[in-house]
Amino acid sequence: MNYRVLLFYKYTTIEDPESFAKEHLAFGKEIGIKGRILVAKEGINGTLSGTIEATDAYMEKMEADPRFKGIYYKIDEVEEHAFKKLFVRPRKELVSLNLEDDIDPLELTGKYLEPKDFKEALLDENTVVIDARNDYEYDLGHFRGAVRPDIRSFRELPQWIIENKEKFMDKKVVTYCTGGIRCEKFSGWLLREGFQDVAQLHGGIFAYGNDPEVQGELWDGKMYVFDERISVEINHVDKTVIGRDWFDGTPCERYVNCANPECNRQFLTSEENQAAHLGGCCYECAANENNRYVIEHNISQEEQAAVLAQLASEVTV
Ligand SMILES: [Zn+2]
Repeated sequence: MNYRVLLFYKYTTIEDPESFAKEHLAFGKEIGIKGRILVAKEGINGTLSGTIEATDAYMEKMEADPRFKGIYYKIDEVEEHAFKKLFVRPRKELVSLNLEDDIDPLELTGKYLEPKDFKEALLDENTVVIDARNDYEYDLGHFRGAVRPDIRSFRELPQWIIENKEKFMDKKVVTYCTGGIRCEKFSGWLLREGFQDVAQLHGGIFAYGNDPEVQGELWDGKMYVFDERISVEINHVDKTVIGRDWFDGTPCERYVNCANPECNRQFLTSEENQAAHLGGCCYECAANENNRYVIEHNISQEEQAAVLAQLASEVTV
């Protein structure tokens, strides 16, 4: 294991995100890291990969800058780069809850729970644990008993909470996400909404999985990550599979993107089922004229037509 993946963020003030992004990109290229780093006036959020030397150099340089001192890096050891390129992009916000009056986590955020205390919260019946990620992330893996907001994107979370408020109002609320950045804002927003007792998992699921004491216990399935690995293991105690094949419902942890470029839906499926559906999530996507699976696998028009005919007959049965 000569490489590492770093996941990190910090809410801090970056006066000029555009020029910062340019310099940061040049520095990153120079030391040989790859990944995706977002910068905004409200801070920095990144996930990157590199050799041990390169990631050390990155963390050292950041630590020497007062704006980024004390960043909590979630570190995974890996065999190779987890990204193909390096992007450093200026953004208006690091994460968006689609609020008119945004939350500044430096002023308002939930209490931090360390993994051991979070595990206790999971077992406490007066505590509601809310997953602050998207539905497809939840469906691959989540904490046992956690609430799954019915949302396609983080931006929809406040509205969903408002609609379901009575269920949580008089309980302790604990939130979690991949590395912690989404919860910083979300837990602050919950407090502003009038929730009394709000906490967040410090360092996110990542930190929980790497914690030597809890070792990911009470996590079911795998964790979705935004790099080429797609998913990683969290529970090192009693691992289960909860992902289900999109087509036949059998246990599955293999993510693919729908082959129709206009759909791009992410779903879990086996290699066999993916092939049987030409990489599409549905008949229309399988039949799409720009089907990437068909192009990449050099499937002839006759072959495609034969598979589609088979699928059409299955749909009508
Ligand atoms: Zn599709």
